[in-house]
Amino acid sequence: MAEEKLGQFGEFGGSYVPEGLQEVLDRLADDFYKISQEPDFIEEFNYYLKEFVGRESPLTLAKNLTKKAGGAKIYLKREDLNHTGAHKINNVIGQILLAKKMGATRIIAETGAGQHGVATATACSMFDIPCVIYMGELDMKRQELNVFRMELLGAEVVPVSSGQGRLKDAVDAALGDLVENYENTFYLLGSAVGPHPYPSIVKHFQSVISEEAKRQIIEKEGKLPKAVVACVGGGSNAIGAFAHFIEEKGVRLIGAEPAEAPSLTEGVPAVLHGFKCLTLLKENGEPAPTHSIAAGLDYPGIGPEHSHLKTSGRAEYYTVTGDEALEYFKELSRVEGIIPALESAHAIAHGVKVAKELSPEDSIIINLSGRGDKDVNQVFEMEQEKNNK
Ligand SMILES: *Cc1c(COP(=O)(O)O)cnc(C)c1O
Repeated sequence: MAEEKLGQFGEFGGSYVPEGLQEVLDRLADDFYKISQEPDFIEEFNYYLKEFVGRESPLTLAKNLTKKAGGAKIYLKREDLNHTGAHKINNVIGQILLAKKMGATRIIAETGAGQHGVATATACSMFDIPCVIYMGELDMKRQELNVFRMELLGAEVVPVSSGQGRLKDAVDAALGDLVENYENTFYLLGSAVGPHPYPSIVKHFQSVISEEAKRQIIEKEGKLPKAVVACVGGGSNAIGAFAHFIEEKGVRLIGAEPAEAPSLTEGVPAVLHGFKCLTLLKENGEPAPTHSIAAGLDYPGIGPEHSHLKTSGRAEYYTVTGDEALEYFKELSRVEGIIPALESAHAIAHGVKVAKELSPEDSIIINLSGRGDKDVNQVFEMEQEKNNK
């Protein structure tokens, strides 16, 4: 814990930012560790998780999938049933409450595919706090509907044309805004990445996933699961799903990452976006371009704690191809009546392999990070293209 307080996870994490920004982050770290422990803060967080997000989310036995796999019972942690359809809202609610306690009157955020932007705009609307979302120009073109959603929700979406007009440029623009306006502005970061204290903040608020899941599996099975499986993009749903099981050495922690962006299985230690992690580099040392079919997993780096869990051997990470994810996107829809997000379909695909190797007395938990409504158009178009070949 002491180590984590400094934002250091083995050799990973830390904070590699200019001095002005470091001062803002130091204040954020101090306030976070103090405020997040206060009883009225905890009560308020739980209130909104229940009344606005709809927690707790069920832990559903996927009985048809289990039967087909023929091994351990497969339980799905249903983050897809949260308001806005994914786990991201847990972190957003926590950070906005923190921002308000710190006296901020304005929220800014970055978004790539638009999912974190939509979650942030949603909660800012409910909390009646102004919201500015930085988004790369290219990403805005690709994700027109999410831009429209954010605007419907009352957010201002600022196009970023510098660099390549992608996520990294949006992060840089948001950080620039923060340094200039830190007195009234809070930067709400969307995944378990970035300089300290963000990875620890995001883990803290997403840990509700494993806090519930651990209680639920013991109620249902009377014992711990053999494994917890989650997909990893930046790593927030996975670290939230792992958190309360990390100390339970008998529980395997398994991350599924896209074969098209394999930061954990093929990355090398490097500083990316202000923190050190396992990351995919090109020969010239620049971050490598990635292209997962799941927009939320398309990131060349990974949270520092996952980098450490991997190198220390506590967690295991495997790659899943876009085709395998697509297969389980359809399979879960067909056999369980649940259309998963393409991101989550990576976890399902690998989770079924894990379940097959275990006995029917055992159980595993797969974190279903989000619902697939957002992906139906894309899958439809991919199928059309396939059929036209
Ligand atoms: C954003 C997103 C992810 C990836 O982000 P993490 O920080 O790795 O959790 C995974 N699943 C869904 C549904 C998402 O929206």
